[in-house]
Amino acid sequence: MTPPTQHGPVVARTPEELRAALADADGVGLVPTMGSLHSGHRSLMRLARGRAGTVVVSVFVNPLQFGPDEDFEHYPRDLGADTRVCAEEGVDVVFAPETQTMYPAPQMVTVDAGTMGERLEGASRPGHFTGVLTVVAKLFHLVRPDFAVFGEKDAQQIALVRRMVTDLNLPVEIVGAPLSRDPDGLASSSRNAYLSEQERTSALALSRALTAGREAAPGGAEDVRAASRKVLDEAAAADPPVRLDYLALVDPATFGEASADHRGEAVLAVAARVGGTRLIDNTAVPL
Ligand code: AMP
Repeated sequence: MTPPTQHGPVVARTPEELRAALADADGVGLVPTMGSLHSGHRSLMRLARGRAGTVVVSVFVNPLQFGPDEDFEHYPRDLGADTRVCAEEGVDVVFAPETQTMYPAPQMVTVDAGTMGERLEGASRPGHFTGVLTVVAKLFHLVRPDFAVFGEKDAQQIALVRRMVTDLNLPVEIVGAPLSRDPDGLASSSRNAYLSEQERTSALALSRALTAGREAAPGGAEDVRAASRKVLDEAAAADPPVRLDYLALVDPATFGEASADHRGEAVLAVAARVGGTRLIDNTAVPL
């Protein structure tokens, strides 16, 4: 275990080191991350810092939530840089276990994400949400937080985590943090580092499509879908093109498609590839 410096967090690499670091902690807030920390993660840490006695940030690239052809091997990792970000945000403990520590043997028992976990991101990335919920459940048991902060950037993920907490009676409060964007409108993401300048320009169509959809909300669900699809159709012809994975207007409780007469809040969610990079974004739409 790396001891705390005057300004830095304790870095715990094992459950034993974590328990020692949290021996006298109360009011624990957990921010689960995969590292490569950016301004979006910082906003979660600030939310946690504002309400927790002790803030724990976990940094773990979870192999269980990556498909065989995804970027697990290449996902950016820099614990030194991440620890410095955590120090700047007043984080008390960084929990950064090795893969072997979290999964000493192949995981046999997992948390099934149900039908909500098979839609949108789950349809594009089979098994993804089982991997997410399983590691989140493990982190909850290891850290035993009073609350945990998740970003609305991953709208389906936070909905499923909330559902897991309810369905499995987990003693933790889930706090949502608003989606944070870079100054040009692109949703902040560790994967944005993969984008070239031209790819980034094309990728701005995602947030533009969501804005167009939200502005069409007074006309109802079909107008929202049409307005956002128009922007993405144009972006499909851009150079480099935006290759749409899905665009969906869904009921936030189930992530099933919102009906034409849906009333109340819906979530407009998009996933697309630009070059080799897969990006997601979403916005709440009042209908
Ligand atoms: P990740 O490291 O990508 O697994 O993200 C860790 C946490 O940070 C998740 O709860 C994400 O939803 C959240 N997060 C990532 N990017 C953003 C963002 N741009 N705005 C808000 N939360 C975010």
